[in-house]
Formats: sequence, C-alpha cells, structure tokens
Amino acid sequence: MKTYLLPCDCSREIPVTAADAGGSVPCPQCGRQVDVPKLRNLGSLRQVVAGDAPVARRWTAGHSTVLVGLLLAATTGMLSRLFPAPPAPQVDLDDLRRTLAATPYANIYGIWVTEMRQRQIAPKPTPAEEAYRQKAAESRAWRQRLQYAAGASLALAATGALAVALRSAAERSRGAGS
Ligand SMILES: [Zn+2]
Repeated sequence: MKTYLLPCDCSREIPVTAADAGGSVPCPQCGRQVDVPKLRNLGSLRQVVAGDAPVARRWTAGHSTVLVGLLLAATTGMLSRLFPAPPAPQVDLDDLRRTLAATPYANIYGIWVTEMRQRQIAPKPTPAEEAYRQKAAESRAWRQRLQYAAGASLALAATGALAVALRSAAERSRGAGS
C-alpha cells in the first residue's frame, strides 16, 4: 500500500495510507487531529519513496545549539584577528651577544633544545650534542644515585643514634633501679 505524507500545522509530516482517506489521524508530534484528504485527493500529497522515512522538520534545541555554536565560532574567530602578535621590539645585538657570552653553554643549550622540541622543529643533534647529552644524563643519574645513598646512610646513622640513645636510657634506668 502506498504511503503519503500528510503535513500537520506543526510542520511534522504524518505518514498516511489509503485506509486513512476521508478520516483524520493524530499527529505524533503535537497530538492534533489532522484531516486526511479523500481517496481521490490523496495523490496530491507527497508520496513516501522507499527508504525515505518521514522527517521531523521541527526546529529543535539541537538546531539552536548548532546555530549558536557556529555563530559564536565565527564571531570569536573574527575577533581573534583583532589581536595579532605585536611586533617584536628592536634588539640591541651587542647587548644580546654580551648576554649570551655571559650565559653558560649548558643553559643556552637546554633552553634552545626545549624550545625547538616544543615547536617540533628540533634538528637532529650533532654527534657532539649527542655525546654531551649522554654525558649529562650519566652525570645526573650518578648524582641522583649518590644523593639517594647519602640520604639512606643518614637514615641508617639516625637509626643507630636512636638505638644508642634508647639503650643508654634503658641502662640508666636499670642502674637507678638496682
Ligand atoms: Zn502536528
């Protein structure tokens, strides 16, 4: 049986068939009773093509959200163009050179490498840099191990001191007791 789409005042299209002709059907969206045309006029309605489900063409909160989101995106996107990066101040190259000369190589290298990595344009380290990095990492590892060892040794010494103190206190009280 052919299915036709009966438009309701609320813009919902109600699927009807020839069996509904001349009667009325309730709108599934607004509940109104909608008159179905007589059988001979049914052909004036839009017919459902196979695979074409009746679509609710109502404006929903989701639509509003999409619209508001797009408008906001467009507005803020345009506003963001009002704030371009200000031009960099003029740099006194001699001053810069003096500052660089006074800064330890390790500091400059660390800052440079970090910055380059963040921008993902870090060049491959040269063999000298690779060697330096490895050496620095080794030194750091040894420094840490020895610092941990020093800490553990101090804890051991403290435990020993506590034991000595407890024992002498116990001996004193025993001496006082006898
Ligand atoms: Zn309706």
